Amino acid sequence: MCGFISIFGPDGSDVLQDVLSGLLAIQHRGQDAAGIVTFKERFQAKKGLGLVREVFEEKHLDRLRGHLAVGHVRYPTVGLGDKTDVQPFWIDFPVGIAMAHNGNVTNFHELKRDYFGKRHVQLASNCDLEAVLYVFADRISRRSAVAVTLLDVVEATRETFQRVKGAYSVVGTIAGIGMYAFRDPFGIKPCIFGRKKTDAGYCYAVASESVVLDVSGYEIVRDLKAGELLWIGEDRQPQFVQVVTAQHRPCIFEFIYFARPDSFLDGVSVYGARLDLGTALAESWRQTGLHADVVIPVPESARTAAQTMSESLGIPCREGFHKNRYVGRTFIMPNDKVRRDTIRQKLNPIRAEFEGKNVLILDDSIVRGNTSRQIVKIARHMGAKKVYLASYSAPLLHQCFYGIDMSTKREFIARNRDHLEVAKELGADYVLYQTIEQMVEAVRRTKTELKFCMACFDGNYPTGDITDQMLTDIEQDRLAANKE
Ligand code: SF4
Repeated sequence: MCGFISIFGPDGSDVLQDVLSGLLAIQHRGQDAAGIVTFKERFQAKKGLGLVREVFEEKHLDRLRGHLAVGHVRYPTVGLGDKTDVQPFWIDFPVGIAMAHNGNVTNFHELKRDYFGKRHVQLASNCDLEAVLYVFADRISRRSAVAVTLLDVVEATRETFQRVKGAYSVVGTIAGIGMYAFRDPFGIKPCIFGRKKTDAGYCYAVASESVVLDVSGYEIVRDLKAGELLWIGEDRQPQFVQVVTAQHRPCIFEFIYFARPDSFLDGVSVYGARLDLGTALAESWRQTGLHADVVIPVPESARTAAQTMSESLGIPCREGFHKNRYVGRTFIMPNDKVRRDTIRQKLNPIRAEFEGKNVLILDDSIVRGNTSRQIVKIARHMGAKKVYLASYSAPLLHQCFYGIDMSTKREFIARNRDHLEVAKELGADYVLYQTIEQMVEAVRRTKTELKFCMACFDGNYPTGDITDQMLTDIEQDRLAANKE
């Protein structure tokens, strides 16, 4: 999970402030590193490890001003996550191309060995984006005309889709000429296009989430379709080209956890989806016949669903945990030890909401169970009579290959356990999960035609190219990472 924004403003304009505001709006998508590349006569860049507010200082801003820019916040899935892997990337020759992405290239090692190895190209980083950039740029550089045309960009995108497997949304600029964006053939990662009218003409933007466009006053035009390219060249006319067709399978976990609730993804309100997830889960809770006095969300993502769950059940919703906002998201901590230590500092209970009560604690998901186990312990310590745990997503059982470093399959607590066994493992009196059917129904809301990537729930990887060897490799990589 990463976040990006790319902006193409009128000649002579300065889009830096919008890029910075946009990156701050999607800081939740990656807290490991941030970068901006702008173009004014030549590419200028500032990249670094840390939060947006830490990487960009006043002294960097002047040289980053320009009318073409790409910004990125990074959450590392491939590579060491050091400075060399920070996006955006760019090349100056034979054509200046800057690029950033959100996603994961599943055949990165094969590309390195077969495609780049045969061409004697040595990649400078361990970031899979570099492979995407070079495949794209290689095709552009083989063009016959002097200036880059729509056809060149279409062919470069087609070649990228053919060679680069996985899930990736890509944005970028071509030096002094224009802006491009494309979404992988399954549209797993989000990508949305908007525009803002200025006195000098339209300013165009493409971002990971609609909230990026909202905060800077851009009007939302639409999401890119799976396998679609957007090109805006020197004539400033946005052109959409369906480069390849495949079934659109956006990541359902974006709605459950990753995306900001004030975003729309593929026309669906994330907030609305979470409200409906709470309502659906309330129905399942009613069927258990158990009694809870209060619904307590695990902040932040479970708050929305907890409201509708409590309304549907006619019991109060209370803030039982205060979250220390200055500790990072546990989900994106680099290894299990760091995650365990951080959870203890992150959530502080409010005793009055637990003491003498049957508490129904709601979370967005239960992954390894480390957080849940500690939450149950805390609730008991605060004097709860019964501690029930509910997840408004279905049990997580399979690794994600598309950019989310969730867990190794051995670590998924629901793997080879039913919900009662999970409850026992966590020390809870009961554990309730949403069913996959309810989850899909709630998330797609009125968009009944939407189908999702749900591979981490059902093991059905939409790209169809995940082999047993890849499953084994990723398992070993993640186990090794967790041992560090
Ligand atoms: S496997 Fe899960 S987290 Fe990964 S893209 Fe698919 S739905 Fe999203």
